Amino acid sequence: MKHVCLIVAACAVSIPAFAAPPLNPPLPPPRPAFEGGPRAAFAKQVPLPPPRPNFEGEAKPDEPPAEPPAPAAEVVPAPAPAVPAVCAALASGRAIGVSLPAIPGDGGCGVASPVRLTGVRLRSGATLKLSPDATVNCEMAGHVADFLDGEVARIESAGMGRIVEVRHAGAYECRGTNRVVGAKLSEHARGNAIDLRTFKFKDGHTLTVGTDRSPAWSGVKAAACERFGTILGPGSDPTHTDHLHLDMRARRSKSICQWVLD
Ligand SMILES: [Zn+2]
Repeated sequence: MKHVCLIVAACAVSIPAFAAPPLNPPLPPPRPAFEGGPRAAFAKQVPLPPPRPNFEGEAKPDEPPAEPPAPAAEVVPAPAPAVPAVCAALASGRAIGVSLPAIPGDGGCGVASPVRLTGVRLRSGATLKLSPDATVNCEMAGHVADFLDGEVARIESAGMGRIVEVRHAGAYECRGTNRVVGAKLSEHARGNAIDLRTFKFKDGHTLTVGTDRSPAWSGVKAAACERFGTILGPGSDPTHTDHLHLDMRARRSKSICQWVLD
């Protein structure tokens, strides 16, 4: 503490000097105005660290590290669709239709070389329509084409009119014999059979197995029994009253030929 000498000449007594406070103390200089208040002011005064680089997938402290990206899946080209082999009967032009991809099947069903048979190129040059389209195996397609070509030529040569269409009641189908559950597999299940039903003539009239009597049937039966392994028509059993079942089942002995003609 300083002492002030009251007597300049001889300063015998000194008393502490109390500075009287000013009556109107000056206000402190105004603080600079910072937008956003003190924190903002601090933020403006303290430089921020440079931003961290933005790494995608950066792991957070409490999360397990992200797994590395999976490698791109190897692109395997899709296999080209199997191109069915050309059936000889189609290639020769006798049978009209298209080769189909192999038909897989369970329990022995299926066809390795199926054909959608739509008609027959007759020896006359005309086209015989098969209705509806019939799916059979390639060998059967050739036999059906040759058989129908021969029978149409024979019937037409007998003066019975021109045949333009043959209708059938069934071809490939995965089923047991005579549609009996548990029975041995039908030749239909291998594309090895067809059920012929009707000859249709150009003038519109028809000749139907089991419905129409005709002298033409004896020739049809003889030719069928010569070519096919199994022939079942009206009179053979109750399931063949209205069509002629023809198949190429291989038999050790003579074919089964059952068709009772009036
Ligand atoms: Zn049949």
